[in-house]
Amino acid sequence: MKLLSVIVPCYNEEENVRDFYDELCKNTDFFDKKQIALELLYVDDGSKDKTALEVKKICAEDARVRLVSFSRNFGKEAAIYAGLQKCKGDFAVLMDADLQDPPSLLPQMYSYIEQGYDSVATRRVTRKGEPVIRSFFARMFYRLMNRISRTEIVDGARDYRLMTRQVVDAILAMSEYNRFTKGIFGWVGYETKWLEYENVERRKGETKWSFWKLFLYSLEGIIAFSTAPLTIASVMGVLFCVLAFAMIIFTIVRKLLFDDPTSGWPSLVCIIMMVSGVQLFCLGILGQYLSKTYMEVKKRPIYLVKEEIGEAARDESEREKV
Ligand code: UDP
Ligand code: MG
Repeated sequence: MKLLSVIVPCYNEEENVRDFYDELCKNTDFFDKKQIALELLYVDDGSKDKTALEVKKICAEDARVRLVSFSRNFGKEAAIYAGLQKCKGDFAVLMDADLQDPPSLLPQMYSYIEQGYDSVATRRVTRKGEPVIRSFFARMFYRLMNRISRTEIVDGARDYRLMTRQVVDAILAMSEYNRFTKGIFGWVGYETKWLEYENVERRKGETKWSFWKLFLYSLEGIIAFSTAPLTIASVMGVLFCVLAFAMIIFTIVRKLLFDDPTSGWPSLVCIIMMVSGVQLFCLGILGQYLSKTYMEVKKRPIYLVKEEIGEAARDESEREKV
């Protein structure tokens, strides 16, 4: 019998975990018929509310449900990594707890796996219910990203994705600390089927992403999957050298023809301001890469587990008894 792992990262989702469970259970007939067992793994990403408690209640009712609790909030990327690491399924699917990833798509997704695809991903074709300015910047980000990075990053792609064990292992092999999952999925390759659906608004609670957080996240994505900004810095350096050289020639010629090398103090100040601005900007780019490298070489764990409930935890305790 095959096993399908459903991985659900949760951060302050006490209102949603039960709804998610109920909704998922409504859509499991298909898998029962196919003789595929289910494992539901909630990853509690250091929630400050009663998420863990709610999940524990579900665990007590249903042996297929497991919980991994982090010692603090490590971010969704870390939760995804932990989920993939802890899951035991022959297939794994990543889903949000807020029901923005409709479980009703699962049978269709699985049918593509049966057809031989390695992974089935979803993208939303509309951004209904999202602030206009956010959609605009999101579009800009994807366009820029695909220009400057060789890894394909699909606009509107969600993390809702069904994968075979082979793909899961490939993703786990990328043990980098700065995890930009959307890029990692693209990077590992494999044959991916894209399903499109209309955006569904989150059931309860609020999104964890502020505009500022999204902005920083997009920078992280660019730095993790492209070195183009570094090239831009060098190109700018060359451009300014050429410009300076032209200005030197201009000044010399002016001195020879009109004998006035000192005029133009205001323009001089402007030039100094601008050039030092560009220098700081380029230094900043360098700093970004350096800081990411610094975090990477420290080799800190991606997440820390506080508590584990469910099958895997039981295995471990049994091992201790022996
Ligand atoms: N999430 C998480 N850790 C975080 C932030 C979010 O595990 O630090 C989870 C969250 O509980 C949800 C999913 O990631 O299940 C997506 O979050 P959200 O709905 O806030 O993002 P959006 O759908 O608005 O992109
Ligand atoms: Mg959401």
